[in-house]
Parts: sequence; structure tokens; C-alpha cells
Amino acid sequence: MTHHHTQTYWLEHAWLDTHVEPGVAVDTRDGRITAVHRDTPTPPPGAEVLRGLTLPGLANAHSHAFHRALRGTVQVGSGTFWTWREVMYATADRLTPETYHALARAVYAEMALAGITSVGEFHYVHHAPGGTPYADPNAMGEALIDAAAEAGIRITLLDTAYLSSAILNKHSGRPPTTHQLRFSDGSADAWAERCSVLKERDHARIGAAIHSVRAVPAEQLATVARWAEERRAPLHVHLSEQTAENDACREAHGCTPTQLLAEHGVLGPRTTGVHNTHLTDEDIALIGGSGTGTCMCPTTERDLADGIGPPAALQQAGSPLSLGSDSHAVIDLLEEARAMELNERLRTRTRGHWTAAALLRAASADGHAALGWDEAGTIETGALADLTTIALDSVRTAGPLPRLGAETAVFAATAADVRHTIVGGRHVVRDGAHALVPDVPQALAQAIRSLRA
Ligand SMILES: [Zn+2]
Repeated sequence: MTHHHTQTYWLEHAWLDTHVEPGVAVDTRDGRITAVHRDTPTPPPGAEVLRGLTLPGLANAHSHAFHRALRGTVQVGSGTFWTWREVMYATADRLTPETYHALARAVYAEMALAGITSVGEFHYVHHAPGGTPYADPNAMGEALIDAAAEAGIRITLLDTAYLSSAILNKHSGRPPTTHQLRFSDGSADAWAERCSVLKERDHARIGAAIHSVRAVPAEQLATVARWAEERRAPLHVHLSEQTAENDACREAHGCTPTQLLAEHGVLGPRTTGVHNTHLTDEDIALIGGSGTGTCMCPTTERDLADGIGPPAALQQAGSPLSLGSDSHAVIDLLEEARAMELNERLRTRTRGHWTAAALLRAASADGHAALGWDEAGTIETGALADLTTIALDSVRTAGPLPRLGAETAVFAATAADVRHTIVGGRHVVRDGAHALVPDVPQALAQAIRSLRA
């Protein structure tokens, strides 16, 4: 006998991709939406009531979970991306499968509280310090997959090839530094062999990543691209976040990082460039023309003084946009969404580059697509039953007409206004409280303190 899990949710206001619809009932069965009933002014009997504006679940397309341990500590003094990286490496040194599991579980629970239903984890801390593989060479990746399950969210583990510390010349990279030894598998072939053992689960998909053109020598880029191609898996790459990367690439290869990736078959519709900050017009045309996505991480980019990228031009050229909290300076996808628009306003001194609808699309449907969850990110029959409800009666959101709910959510709400998070038809956050991790602040504090001890 088969037991099916069915549940009806009544959405006081629903975001249906283009507009706010009042009074919508959503039937779910075994984690998927089976029917969407408009014109339902009152909750049907037995329905769970979601008061506020319910959006499709949010996708955090770029995360390094352990960077959460740096919050606050990296805001003392001055510096650049490169000085920040030294502090980040010192934290990476102390991770074990056990401590990383505890930290990631708490960080993913923080994400659920922020309305995030899927995370793309760009994962490169693979081996023990010094580079010795654990008994299970995927122990760290498995810890992250388990952590996501315990926090109630979906994960795409973007297992990351990280083989060198810098570009040496046309043919090879400089060896990893002491800190980076645990990131490296030695070669892209060894990376591929290890990753091939990873198994997908209901809540977990496996994708690939190239850390950057700094970290994977040119002649090994195609190995990673081929691995992703064979599996039809997402492939992510940090791209031109820093001008120093562009300079080193030009010197060794006589071209930009984007051109190098294009030459080695890395670009394409399943590929996402993360940051895409310092690009030439030709780079923008290559990225857009190949359908390669762009993941913007505006709160990290401003935190690390990276610069402002050209997402409007990229989108116009054909690159779908997604959003990530990356270094977790804050975890708030609504803030990421408005920051992309507000950066562009500061740069151009004009308003209205993206509508709230377009920003929500980046925060949900297009973010999910970048992570290989094409069936999430919209409230319609057949989609995954992943929902995020934003309060419209909080101190930040009260006042505007409900039909302006999307504008209110994107431009005024914060993660603190997330009232419900539903993943696969299951209530993970109810009335602002996590249903699976009872005390998220305590879990974060404990996990971070254990890394300092
Ligand atoms: Zn990153």
C-alpha cells in the first residue's frame, strides 16, 4: 500500500510570475503542486493558511557555507579581497567533516529562515589539511548534503575543481599553497573520478565547478566541462571577480578569462559565471551569445570591494541572471535582488533597470534553473511545492497596497519578514520559526565557536 502525502495551502496573496493574485489555494501531493485554484477568497477546509505574499521558494545560487564563520571578524581594519582571503583560509584550515556538518546545518537553517529553498554550494574544501584524502574521499561533500537535508532545504553540490594557486604559464599552474592543498585533487581526472562517486538524492543534485582560471590550468578545463556535459549537470565558475585574474590570464594566454573558458568548451546554457565583474564588450557578447548564466552576489561584491559588474548588459546579451549570498556577509536574497538594481541606479543615475518581477525571477526561477532544479521557481501545476511567504504586516512592510506586494518584498522587506518556508510540500519554517532546527542562533554560535577553539 502506498501512502501519499497531500496538503492544501491557502495563500492570502500569491505571486504568479507577473502579478499578485489574492486568495489562491494550492494543492500539493508528494512534494509537487497538483492544482492552483484562483478566486478562492477563503481557506478551504483543512488548508494551511499562509498570510502575507507567497512567492515561489528562493534559490541561493552561490554559497560557500563555511564563510559564515567569518561574519563580523572580517569587518575590522582595511584591506582588499586578497587580505580577506587570508582570514578565510585560516578558517578553512580548521574544518573537519564533523565541524563542517554542524556549521553547514546551522547556515542552511539560517537560509531556510530567509526563505531560501535551494542552495548551490560551491564546494572546494575536499581533503584533510595537507591534502590527505579522508577515508571516504567525499566525506566533506556528504556532510554538506546531509546538512541540507537536516535543515530542510534542497542542495546542488557544485563540486569544485581547485588544482593550482595561480596561472604559471600557458601550460600549467603554480602548485597549491599550504592552505590550498586540501582543496586539490591533483588533476582534473582525479577530481572527476572522485566526483563520479557522489550520488543524487531527492533533495540533492550534483553539479561541477571550476574554481576559476587561476585554480584550474587551461589544459584541464575541458575535462571538467566534459564531466558536466556527460551528466547534463550545472557547471559554475568564478569569473573575472578581480582585475588581477584578468591581468595574469592575459599575460599567460594572451586573452581574457572569458575567452579562455570559451576556447576550452566551458561556456554554454548549463554554465553559470559567478560575479562576471570585470568584462570586456567581447566577453559580454561571448557569455550572452552562448546562453551562459550570470550569478550576481552583490552583498559580497560590495563587501569585498570587488567593483560593480555589468548584469544589465549581460542580460541584454542573453545571459540569464541568478543571485547568491556567496560569503554570507548577510544571508538575505531580497537584499541581493534590490542591491543589483540599486548598484545600477548609482552607476547610471537612472532608476528602474529591473522590475520587482524581473528581480524575483532572478531570485527564484532563473536561480533554480542555474542549479539544475528547472521544475522549481514558479507556482503552477507540476512544479515542486517550494514556497516562501513574506509578511505584509510587519513594521517594514505594512502600508502599501497588497497588489504592490512584489515591490514591497523586493525593495523593503528583509529576511526577517519571511514567515513561512515550504520545501517539497513540507513546512520547514512556520511563523518565523524553524521546524527542524529548534534554535538556529544557538546552533550557529556553537558551530562557529567550535572552529575558534
Ligand atoms: Zn564564491
